[in-house]
Amino acid sequence: MKPNTPTDQTTAFSPDLDKLFKIAQEGEAVIPAIIQHNDTKDVLMLGYMNRVALKQTMETGRVTFWSTSRRELWVKGATSGNTLRAMRILINCEQNSLLIYALPEGPGVCHTIGNNGTHRPTCYYRELSLYSAEKYRFFADGTLYDSPFVSENGSYTAPSMQQATEVSSNFYQLTHFYLQKLTDNKAGQIAINVIFDALLMPHPIIWLHEEHHRAVMARRGINSRNESYFLYSKLEGGVVKVSGVKDSDLIRLKRYYPPEIIYLHTAGIVSMTAMTRHIESRWFFHETESLDYGILWTNAVNNFYYMSACTQNEEPELPEETEDERDFTGFDCRAWVYDLFRPDEPYETRGIHRSGQGIDRYITYAKLSSEERNYLSNATQLYLLNFIDPNLIGFHRIQVSENFVFNFAGRHSWLRSDKRVRWICILI
Ligand SMILES: [Zn+2]
Repeated sequence: MKPNTPTDQTTAFSPDLDKLFKIAQEGEAVIPAIIQHNDTKDVLMLGYMNRVALKQTMETGRVTFWSTSRRELWVKGATSGNTLRAMRILINCEQNSLLIYALPEGPGVCHTIGNNGTHRPTCYYRELSLYSAEKYRFFADGTLYDSPFVSENGSYTAPSMQQATEVSSNFYQLTHFYLQKLTDNKAGQIAINVIFDALLMPHPIIWLHEEHHRAVMARRGINSRNESYFLYSKLEGGVVKVSGVKDSDLIRLKRYYPPEIIYLHTAGIVSMTAMTRHIESRWFFHETESLDYGILWTNAVNNFYYMSACTQNEEPELPEETEDERDFTGFDCRAWVYDLFRPDEPYETRGIHRSGQGIDRYITYAKLSSEERNYLSNATQLYLLNFIDPNLIGFHRIQVSENFVFNFAGRHSWLRSDKRVRWICILI
């Protein structure tokens, strides 16, 4: 459930953990009193009461604290006019804290001034990100954000990233195994497989791409549909969608798990790198002879092509669609850069969808700042590193001596949730 308390700031984790210790050292006999709005139930503030303050509150109906810093009775609002009328006083099981339902009698409660120039209605106006400590941490492994096998009410809803990668890789490798039996000629075998991958069967790659997006959301209980199942019957304007996602789910994901909404956008392209790595590992460690060149080239070209498309100032024609029908993001890489640079911008401020209903999820090129565009262009160039790969031209295992075999591959993927673009070279 969304907390009722409005907040107007996010903040780093820097609380005064010594406060109670300091009060205890002063030797004051005080009890903490939580002040809750009698009608809205918002928590307004917390103060301390000694015996006199509590007695005065009960007798006058005006909330009165003991100021632990000034060491004097403090009738709340005596100088500011923001007094509090006590309506009910509750005490907890151990009789060491109070809960006071009160009605504010002035325009505000907190002594701080809010963005509108008046006293804030609650002292709890700062919000700690649930992820504050690890907001920009290194995504050492994308599968950190994988969902386990997801089922709901006993029915299967989404595979994990690892499962989907296995399924797609196995599909290609098994198909290639049988296709190569059509001829004994090696060049002919490769040609048949490449044509099959490039022209006839891109479907498992697209399915895999969308399942990676879905796994990030499934981890937080967000339902979605992979529309690649309708690739040949319902493909609209060349766009395959992950639909069925609610705006409220995306708002929640960005608000409470900002690194995950960034990874959500990147997960599709990461899936292709994951599949390539999976197949090449099998070639190297298990010495499999499957002719998977078509799919490896498709992955490398596709990632670069998709990134390049995100840097073009062109928008595809999209049909009118309801919130339930629309894709969760549009161009992945634009949304990635947009959220990467604006981790604190609430998702709901993206604007209204052109249909007039719901949030405008599709980030257009025009909407990106020049800094974001530059970053996107630089990131696109780094995808050329994926072509530095001996596996693409048939070198799966480079034998140096009887006991030493190695291989290498340039690999660039979206592995970070901060703004530093990195590439990694994995020795397998
Ligand atoms: Zn995608």
